[in-house]
Amino acid sequence: MIVHVDPDRCCGAGQCVLAAPEVFDQRDEDGTVVLLDARPPAALVREVADAVAACPGGAIRLEEGAPR
Ligand code: SF4
Repeated sequence: MIVHVDPDRCCGAGQCVLAAPEVFDQRDEDGTVVLLDARPPAALVREVADAVAACPGGAIRLEEGAPR
């Protein structure tokens, strides 16, 4: 799994951080998403999928890829 984020679509809601804090953070200045781990381990697939589902801006996209 490879994670992509689009800061232009991010409204800073922070749902991704709540769902998967190992993978997402937010900038202190404006709350825009910061991707901490673009290739998270397989153990975090469910959390990342939850983040995608919860993101109100559609700012998170997943690409197939071998887990780390
Ligand atoms: S949930 Fe979506 S809109 Fe909210 S901070 Fe994360 S990426 Fe941005």
